[in-house]
Amino acid sequence: MSVPGKGILFSLVERARRRSAWLFHFNAGACNGCDIELITCLTPRYDVEQLGIKLEGSPRQADVLCVSGPVTRATREALETIYGQIPFPKVVVAIGSCPATCNVFAGSPMIEGPLDRIIPVDVYVPGCPPRPHQIIEGIAEAIERLAAYRATPAGGER
Ligand code: SF4
Repeated sequence: MSVPGKGILFSLVERARRRSAWLFHFNAGACNGCDIELITCLTPRYDVEQLGIKLEGSPRQADVLCVSGPVTRATREALETIYGQIPFPKVVVAIGSCPATCNVFAGSPMIEGPLDRIIPVDVYVPGCPPRPHQIIEGIAEAIERLAAYRATPAGGER
Protein backbone atom coordinates (compact mmCIF):
# COMPACT_ATOMS: atom_id res chain seq x y z
CA MET A 1 0.00 0.00 0.00
CA SER A 2 1.45 3.39 -0.97
CA VAL A 3 1.75 6.13 1.64
CA PRO A 4 0.52 9.59 0.49
CA GLY A 5 3.38 12.08 0.27
CA LYS A 6 6.01 9.38 0.70
CA GLY A 7 7.65 10.30 -2.61
CA ILE A 8 7.92 13.98 -1.65
CA LEU A 9 9.29 13.10 1.79
CA PHE A 10 11.85 10.75 0.25
CA SER A 11 12.88 13.45 -2.23
CA LEU A 12 13.32 16.03 0.56
CA VAL A 13 15.38 13.64 2.64
CA GLU A 14 17.54 12.79 -0.38
CA ARG A 15 18.09 16.47 -1.17
CA ALA A 16 18.95 17.23 2.45
CA ARG A 17 21.35 14.26 2.57
CA ARG A 18 23.04 15.35 -0.66
CA ARG A 19 23.93 18.66 0.93
CA SER A 20 25.20 17.39 4.24
CA ALA A 21 27.77 14.93 5.40
CA TRP A 22 27.87 13.34 8.79
CA LEU A 23 31.34 12.34 9.84
CA PHE A 24 32.42 9.57 12.12
CA HIS A 25 35.96 10.00 13.37
CA PHE A 26 38.14 7.04 14.30
CA ASN A 27 41.58 7.30 15.85
CA ALA A 28 43.51 4.24 14.63
CA GLY A 29 46.56 4.91 16.78
CA ALA A 30 47.19 8.56 15.93
CA CYS A 31 49.39 10.79 18.08
CA ASN A 32 46.36 13.13 18.40
CA GLY A 33 47.89 15.83 16.16
CA CYS A 34 45.50 15.03 13.30
CA ASP A 35 42.56 14.65 15.69
CA ILE A 36 43.10 18.12 17.11
CA GLU A 37 43.18 19.59 13.58
CA LEU A 38 39.97 17.75 12.65
CA ILE A 39 38.19 19.04 15.75
CA THR A 40 39.47 22.54 14.95
CA CYS A 41 37.41 22.40 11.73
CA LEU A 42 34.29 22.32 13.91
CA THR A 43 35.22 25.38 15.96
CA PRO A 44 33.62 28.78 15.19
CA ARG A 45 36.72 29.87 13.27
CA TYR A 46 36.09 27.31 10.49
CA ASP A 47 32.49 26.43 11.41
CA VAL A 48 31.88 23.59 8.96
CA GLU A 49 28.54 22.86 10.64
CA GLN A 50 27.02 25.75 8.70
CA LEU A 51 27.74 23.66 5.58
CA GLY A 52 25.84 20.72 7.01
CA ILE A 53 29.01 18.90 8.04
CA LYS A 54 28.57 17.40 11.46
CA LEU A 55 30.48 15.03 13.70
CA GLU A 56 28.23 12.04 14.42
CA GLY A 57 28.63 9.77 17.43
CA SER A 58 27.22 6.63 15.79
CA PRO A 59 28.72 4.99 12.69
CA ARG A 60 25.25 3.70 11.76
CA GLN A 61 24.16 7.27 10.97
CA ALA A 62 27.37 8.51 9.37
CA ASP A 63 28.26 8.91 5.68
CA VAL A 64 31.95 9.71 5.95
CA LEU A 65 34.54 7.81 7.99
CA CYS A 66 37.54 9.99 8.86
CA VAL A 67 40.50 7.90 10.01
CA SER A 68 43.65 9.23 11.63
CA GLY A 69 46.63 7.14 12.66
CA PRO A 70 48.57 4.26 11.09
CA VAL A 71 46.13 1.45 12.16
CA THR A 72 47.69 -0.35 15.08
CA ARG A 73 47.16 -3.99 15.92
CA ALA A 74 44.96 -2.88 18.82
CA THR A 75 42.65 -0.73 16.69
CA ARG A 76 42.26 -2.85 13.53
CA GLU A 77 39.31 -4.94 14.67
CA ALA A 78 37.35 -1.89 15.89
CA LEU A 79 38.09 -0.12 12.60
CA GLU A 80 36.74 -3.04 10.56
CA THR A 81 33.62 -3.24 12.75
CA ILE A 82 32.95 0.49 12.44
CA TYR A 83 33.47 0.42 8.67
CA GLY A 84 30.95 -2.41 8.44
CA GLN A 85 28.41 -0.48 10.52
CA ILE A 86 28.37 2.57 8.24
CA PRO A 87 25.65 2.11 5.60
CA PHE A 88 26.37 2.41 1.88
CA PRO A 89 27.00 4.78 0.23
CA LYS A 90 29.98 5.69 2.39
CA VAL A 91 33.28 7.41 1.88
CA VAL A 92 36.55 6.95 3.76
CA VAL A 93 38.90 9.89 4.29
CA ALA A 94 42.47 9.24 5.45
CA ILE A 95 43.51 12.20 7.60
CA GLY A 96 47.27 12.82 7.59
CA SER A 97 50.33 10.86 6.53
CA CYS A 98 49.86 8.03 9.05
CA PRO A 99 46.87 6.29 7.45
CA ALA A 100 48.38 6.84 3.99
CA THR A 101 51.91 5.50 4.59
CA CYS A 102 52.19 4.71 8.34
CA ASN A 103 54.60 7.67 8.44
CA VAL A 104 57.12 7.43 11.29
CA PHE A 105 55.49 4.23 12.54
CA ALA A 106 56.23 2.24 9.37
CA GLY A 107 58.08 -0.99 10.06
CA SER A 108 56.83 -1.39 13.62
CA PRO A 109 55.46 -4.87 14.36
CA MET A 110 52.52 -3.20 16.13
CA ILE A 111 51.33 -1.52 12.92
CA GLU A 112 48.89 -3.19 10.52
CA GLY A 113 48.40 -0.22 8.18
CA PRO A 114 48.48 1.59 5.92
CA LEU A 115 44.73 2.10 5.95
CA ASP A 116 44.06 0.88 2.40
CA ARG A 117 45.35 -2.58 3.38
CA ILE A 118 42.37 -2.83 5.74
CA ILE A 119 39.48 -0.88 4.12
CA PRO A 120 39.00 1.02 0.81
CA VAL A 121 40.11 4.64 0.97
CA ASP A 122 38.46 7.34 -1.18
CA VAL A 123 40.28 10.55 -0.21
CA TYR A 124 43.76 11.22 1.18
CA VAL A 125 44.52 14.41 3.08
CA PRO A 126 48.34 14.76 3.23
CA GLY A 127 50.28 16.38 6.05
CA CYS A 128 51.65 15.68 9.51
CA PRO A 129 49.30 16.97 10.64
CA PRO A 130 47.26 18.53 7.82
CA ARG A 131 45.97 22.05 8.37
CA PRO A 132 42.21 22.49 8.94
CA HIS A 133 41.68 24.00 5.49
CA GLN A 134 43.27 20.89 3.92
CA ILE A 135 40.94 18.67 5.94
CA ILE A 136 37.94 20.75 4.82
CA GLU A 137 39.08 20.38 1.19
CA GLY A 138 39.29 16.62 1.71
CA ILE A 139 35.81 16.50 3.19
CA ALA A 140 34.48 18.56 0.27
CA GLU A 141 35.99 15.96 -2.08
CA ALA A 142 34.40 13.23 0.01
CA ILE A 143 30.99 14.87 -0.39
CA GLU A 144 31.47 14.87 -4.19
CA ARG A 145 32.35 11.17 -4.07
CA LEU A 146 29.32 10.49 -1.92
CA ALA A 147 27.04 12.20 -4.45
CA ALA A 148 28.63 10.16 -7.25
CA TYR A 149 28.14 6.90 -5.32
CA ARG A 150 24.52 7.78 -4.62
CA ALA A 151 23.96 8.24 -8.34
CA THR A 152 25.14 4.69 -9.12
CA PRO A 153 22.65 1.77 -9.13
CA ALA A 154 24.65 -0.10 -6.49
CA GLY A 155 24.85 2.99 -4.26
CA GLY A 156 28.61 2.79 -4.14
CA GLU A 157 28.57 -0.72 -2.70
CA ARG A 158 31.96 -2.38 -3.11
S1 SF4 B 1 50.19 12.20 10.55
FE1 SF4 B 1 51.55 13.21 12.06
S2 SF4 B 1 50.16 14.39 13.38
FE2 SF4 B 1 48.88 12.88 12.26
S3 SF4 B 1 48.73 11.12 13.64
FE3 SF4 B 1 50.49 10.77 12.27
S4 SF4 B 1 52.30 11.53 13.41
FE4 SF4 B 1 50.44 12.41 14.37
